[in-house]
Amino acid sequence: IPRKRFGQNFLTDQGVLYDIIRAIDPQPDDTMVEIGPGLAAMTRLLLESLSRLHVVELDRDLVARLQRNFDPDKLVIHAGDALQFDFASIPRAEGKKLRVVGNLPYNISSPLLFHLAQIAPQVQDQHFMLQKEVVERMVAEPGSKAYGRLSVMLQWRYHMELLFVVPPTAFDPPPQVDSAIVRMIPLAQPLACDVGKLEQVVTKAFSQRRKVLRNCVAGMFSENELIDAGINPQARPEEVPMEQFVGLANRLP
Ligand code: SAM
Repeated sequence: IPRKRFGQNFLTDQGVLYDIIRAIDPQPDDTMVEIGPGLAAMTRLLLESLSRLHVVELDRDLVARLQRNFDPDKLVIHAGDALQFDFASIPRAEGKKLRVVGNLPYNISSPLLFHLAQIAPQVQDQHFMLQKEVVERMVAEPGSKAYGRLSVMLQWRYHMELLFVVPPTAFDPPPQVDSAIVRMIPLAQPLACDVGKLEQVVTKAFSQRRKVLRNCVAGMFSENELIDAGINPQARPEEVPMEQFVGLANRLP
């Protein structure tokens, strides 16, 4: 029985499953980890190509089921919370980066994305099923309604692409919302910036959406400092590109 508190919506649509596997394009010697394998619908298909797969699953009953159904040499099971899991601890061959995939539990998607952002330099790519509305915020461009803190913080580190939309009917039980598959590729060289400072500026800037930037960041930056950073103080925060937020963050002491 699916457990609501673990965000369990199991993907059952075979067509969608194959579309996802095709998008991931697993290669035999990839070092891959799947978050929340659940009843192993994706897991099984991934293992058709991979020589080994790591999974992180919180639900003990599902963990026991995975242990019963898979060869431990092929499926390495990490029982526990993905938010606490040290993804960097997964052994990788010299020069190999980690690939991360998962039909994520939607209730923890933002904290999980930020947890993974900390190891972005060790990651090759990430493919996730998320709430469509969240993916739209991730990939949003300045000037659009969905553009905000999540867009800026993630676009600083990743190239991101919404690959396709998945309807509720593809799951059992069906979630309340549309879902989408997103591809995230860490940038080889994110703009130099202290992430804590960027977070501080962006959080403040987007704390009052309908105001102009000058008012949102009052107390942090003067109007002249905004002008020096090449930013129109009358701009609304949702019009300011990521690069300009980085410029501002770099002015913080
Ligand atoms: N991958 C399966 C599928 O596509 O059918 C299941 C997806 S379901 C949306 C989310 C899965 O993540 C469930 O198996 C759930 O038990 C697991 N899960 C929930 N919270 C978790 C957490 N904090 N850490 C690891 N797994 C978690």
